[in-house]
Amino acid sequence: MIRLQNVSKTYFSKGKDAGVEALKTVDLHVPKGQIHGVIGLSGAGKSTLIRCVNLLERPTTGSVTVDGQELTGLTGDALNQARHRIGMIFQHFNLLTSRTVFANVALPLELMGMKKAEIAERVTPLLELVGLADKARQHPAQLSGGQKQRVAIARALASRPRVLLCDEATSALDPHTTGSILELLRDINQQLGLTILLITHEMEVVKSICHRVSLISGGELVEEAEVGDFFTAP
Ligand code: ADP
Ligand code: ADP
Repeated sequence: MIRLQNVSKTYFSKGKDAGVEALKTVDLHVPKGQIHGVIGLSGAGKSTLIRCVNLLERPTTGSVTVDGQELTGLTGDALNQARHRIGMIFQHFNLLTSRTVFANVALPLELMGMKKAEIAERVTPLLELVGLADKARQHPAQLSGGQKQRVAIARALASRPRVLLCDEATSALDPHTTGSILELLRDINQQLGLTILLITHEMEVVKSICHRVSLISGGELVEEAEVGDFFTAP
């Protein structure tokens, strides 16, 4: 479902000859229906890696294939279309504070040009799915961190993606709330068959929901294993 082949990313900044090599020849394959975790220390390249999957960052070299479509060759409308099949959630939720919960989830559908009635038909069940049907008219400021992340998850699912990218999605949450968000992600994986790629610096996240895990260090994937094997001492 997700395939990175030989992906490298170098950040160049003005006035400096040598760029920062954030990713070096990364190969990663996540089959349909899997929850795959990438774990590593701060600065290891996790964020760059996950942002290359939906081309928020353009790889310097290499190819990115999601749901059978190669993305690095796409621009403009074609890239936007492809991104409908890739949802993403973030550490700090990235909700629009001026919009209600309902309107946050509706936003991607409005941008797709969907009609109002159809949007409501799509948004209401999604709010039920994440357990926030009674919060539709509230604003993000009235919600807890865990509730905000639930809104973000509903928004990410609105375009009915095949893949969900989670960028440190529980890092701003307390352990109890983290557990409930991970449970929701596991349900979504099982019920919708959604493939999930997540990055984290927390072992517990990987242990509790991932099927497979890759370790990233200095921009390179240095190890990959089934989660059960990864955490078993040799
Ligand atoms: P992580 O998510 O694991 O903390 P990042 O992908 O954010 O790692 O960063 C990997 C490396 O790339 C770091 O050395 C970081 O400083 C550098 N980097 C990240 N983003 C940029 C950028 N926009 N410009 C220059 N260097 C960057
Ligand atoms: P529907 O009859 O609206 O298709 P489903 O029973 O298929 O409802 O799905 C239940 C909820 O999950 C609905 O809110 C639907 O929008 C959502 N949903 C179904 N499949 C996906 C998917 N692949 N990605 C995101 N959301 C989905």
